[in-house]
Amino acid sequence: MISRIDLRGAAGRAVLDSPAALRDVMPRAEFDVEAALESVRPICADVHHRGVEALIEITERFDGVRLTDIRVPADAIARALEELDPKVRAALEETIRRARIVHRDQRRTDTTTQVAPGGTVTERWVPVERVGLYVPGGRAVYPSSVVMNVVPAQEAGVESLAVSSPPQKEFGGLPHPTILAACALLGVDEVYAVGGAQAVAMFAYGAGPCAPVNLVTGPGNIYVTSAKRLLKGRIGIDSEAGPTEIAVLADATADPVHVAADLISQAEHDPLAASVLVTDSAELADAVEAELATQVAATKHVERVTTALSGRQSGIVLVDSVGDGLKVVDAYAAEHLEIQTADAAAVAARVRNAGAIFVGPWAPVSLGDYCAGSNHVLPTGGCACHSSGLSVQSFLRGIHVIDYSESALAEVAHHVVNLAEAEDLPGHGAAIKARFGWAVPE
Ligand code: NAD
Repeated sequence: MISRIDLRGAAGRAVLDSPAALRDVMPRAEFDVEAALESVRPICADVHHRGVEALIEITERFDGVRLTDIRVPADAIARALEELDPKVRAALEETIRRARIVHRDQRRTDTTTQVAPGGTVTERWVPVERVGLYVPGGRAVYPSSVVMNVVPAQEAGVESLAVSSPPQKEFGGLPHPTILAACALLGVDEVYAVGGAQAVAMFAYGAGPCAPVNLVTGPGNIYVTSAKRLLKGRIGIDSEAGPTEIAVLADATADPVHVAADLISQAEHDPLAASVLVTDSAELADAVEAELATQVAATKHVERVTTALSGRQSGIVLVDSVGDGLKVVDAYAAEHLEIQTADAAAVAARVRNAGAIFVGPWAPVSLGDYCAGSNHVLPTGGCACHSSGLSVQSFLRGIHVIDYSESALAEVAHHVVNLAEAEDLPGHGAAIKARFGWAVPE
């Protein structure tokens, strides 16, 4: 049911030697953010102009819930934690603990560079003041995404943060109780029962009790992504997260049972999710395909998984060597990349493009989804060739502080004036000359 792309032999070599050709043959989901803009634009405009009233109407239309209050009451958040299954609570606490220690190590310290005697440039790292964190809750609910958004924001020192997640009919129009419980564990008390594009618009423009934010982060479906694209500029965004992806680079040493299970675990997210195996072993490819047939039949979300694995975004790519496989995974730039080869750490060290790399047989993507300590909000759709996943850095701004004395400015005054003249901006030069009685120091 999963398609194959054969890049072995001379024909494959021609493709492998051209990164552009390679990108074109690689499977990828159709995710037309531009097309979704058509339906998202009026949603955002409505929230902008009518605020809470619009949010209530749009939520009723798309989530089938008539909200009385967009903000989740404090007692509902506390109750969700009290009623949380102790096993899930323990798992979330460990997830938070690990994420916190990793993200704490990402904190930046200010640096001051002495450029010349009396002239310094300091880079001051300042947290974004207020952020809106989107936690998806349409097809599946993601309490783990609460942790992955909130922990780096908190470790960056963000003072004001709000979470929004779709209301759930079966939970009285509140976000899923596990999401609320995760908020309680993290000390987040500003939570909204709003999903989709309307949540992004609420964050961007503010509505009722929700003050506007400076930055919106978090994954979501095409409507969430499209709203982020539309409102980018008014707000900062982390990235435009598309459907989730796994690439597994494996050789004959890999266990087909593990590889098939990992491909399925990604396909389980979304019918548009991509699961790609890149291997130099035709035997492994056959064994994984046979394993997929058995394991898919036994998996809970069989329909979603089957759609994802048989879609044009998934496939098995056959290559002549692990070296060629590295070219493929670099061109693909997967959100999640597993290396299941001999000497996996050495192979992983050669990878240039990936959102996160999972090394060897004991580091499956599921570990990173929850408990590795790493962040699971990662660049998709090939964006890993220019972007990183969510981190403390996503919530910081580096502000340059320039401090020059008179003599330090005098030392470079003629350079500034000469460059200003070269750019035909004499006013720039005049701003220097005015400080030295209109005579530029030599
Ligand atoms: P979601 O919360 O993103 O979207 C649900 C909302 O979409 C609903 O509240 C509804 O208001 C809105 N909506 C539904 N139909 C609509 C329509 N026709 N027009 C306008 N709005 C509409 O939840 P989801 O749909 O389950 O999507 C979650 C996505 O997030 C998945 O693709 C999943 O793979 C991804 N995800 C990614 C990561 C990551 O780290 N990259 C992590 C978790 C989830």
